Amino acid sequence: MGDLKDEDPEIYQAIRDELSRQRDGLEMIPSENFASPAVLQAMGSILTNKYSEGYPGKRYYAGNNFIDVVERAAIERAKKVFGVPHANVQPYSGSPANLAVYFSVCKPGDVIMGQNLQDGGHLTHGFKTSLTGQVFKSVPYHVKPDGYLDIEEARRLAMENKPKLIWVGSTAYSREFPFEEFGKIADECGAYLAADISHISGLVIAGAHKSPVNYVHMVMTTTHKTLRGPRGAMIMVTEKGLKKDPELADKVDKTVFPGMQGGPHNHTTAGIAIALLEATSPKFKEHGKQIVANARALADQLMKDGIKLVTNGTDNHMVLIDLTPFGKGKGIFVQDGLDAAGITVNKNTVPNDPASPFYPSGIRAGTPALTTREMKEKDMRLIADLMSEVINAVKHYELPDDKDERTAYLKKFREELWTNEKIKDVRRRVLELCSTFPLYPNL
Ligand SMILES: *Cc1c(COP(=O)(O)O)cnc(C)c1O
Repeated sequence: MGDLKDEDPEIYQAIRDELSRQRDGLEMIPSENFASPAVLQAMGSILTNKYSEGYPGKRYYAGNNFIDVVERAAIERAKKVFGVPHANVQPYSGSPANLAVYFSVCKPGDVIMGQNLQDGGHLTHGFKTSLTGQVFKSVPYHVKPDGYLDIEEARRLAMENKPKLIWVGSTAYSREFPFEEFGKIADECGAYLAADISHISGLVIAGAHKSPVNYVHMVMTTTHKTLRGPRGAMIMVTEKGLKKDPELADKVDKTVFPGMQGGPHNHTTAGIAIALLEATSPKFKEHGKQIVANARALADQLMKDGIKLVTNGTDNHMVLIDLTPFGKGKGIFVQDGLDAAGITVNKNTVPNDPASPFYPSGIRAGTPALTTREMKEKDMRLIADLMSEVINAVKHYELPDDKDERTAYLKKFREELWTNEKIKDVRRRVLELCSTFPLYPNL
């Protein structure tokens, strides 16, 4: 077998270019991270060749002795780090894992509850464009005007609508999740409660965010966010879950396979096992705490620079910037302005966003990937200053309401970014900062 470089120069070059982009920029999308070289090695291994439908010791194909070793290790490590009696490590990613959670305990047409998308929730928690909002009757709960979850509303809606399943945990929320309060709500209305800790599972393992395990019946997490493993997911069943429904573990396993999926991605399973091992090291505990300390430093400096944050701060790994003081729909300009300066974030809705979800009025930015690069509080303060310089450089742009006008306006805006002296200056300083934090030096 030849080298990738000779065999497929086009793909080889794209991978090299992407590596340079990751090295030369500040990755602040809160759901992204840099997997370790060991995880990358497992992902590129021959484990991808093997079919192993079923579970360890119960496979439909021969030749799975070593695959069983890998999957058993991943399962045992997951059970140990989270303190749960059951784990399924086969879901292909977070969205299919959530579908498996639904179909383990719900039937089409059942009522389900999750955090509203515009309020920080995930598509798969019942939003209308997701199958989960079409197959089930979705009753979303919201955040209050101050940005914190409205627990009273969630309780009222749960008692009125008697959902079969409630989700707690989401994708754009910068405060601690009230797992205990949601546990009480679920108990009162008889619902299953699933925690979706996709974003924060690394923080939970490090002790930097409260664990949901004592309060919920099931836990879903992706493995590629703060957990820093390969793209994948796990569903865990808690003691509380088994007490409510002794068959719950079995239901989850049967829904994942044969209900939804075929052969597990064994190279990914190996990567998950490795990430879980890495996450039990004392160094990872420090890392998790540093992620939060970094987010706090970023938040404090942004606010000092006159930038408004939803809830005026953060408890976790992300900040939600509220750009409405500058007008509505400014997210696109700030996102693209930061991108041109080498800072990657994403536009996001803010509570009661006056603009549309596609052109929202906020920005979501996080510290997990920067913390993996070993950046600390002083670097966060510098980055906050760079971000506010960019915000101030683009905040005067106004999105036209007319669709055709809008396309032309955005095109012109993006052209202007490349000649904007302020953006060029920030880009230079971003490159300088990145060069002192080498990424994947051996690749
Ligand atoms: C990322 C995420 C998911 C979906 O994971 P994918 O792997 O992208 O399918 C589900 N729920 C939450 C809260 C997430 O943050």
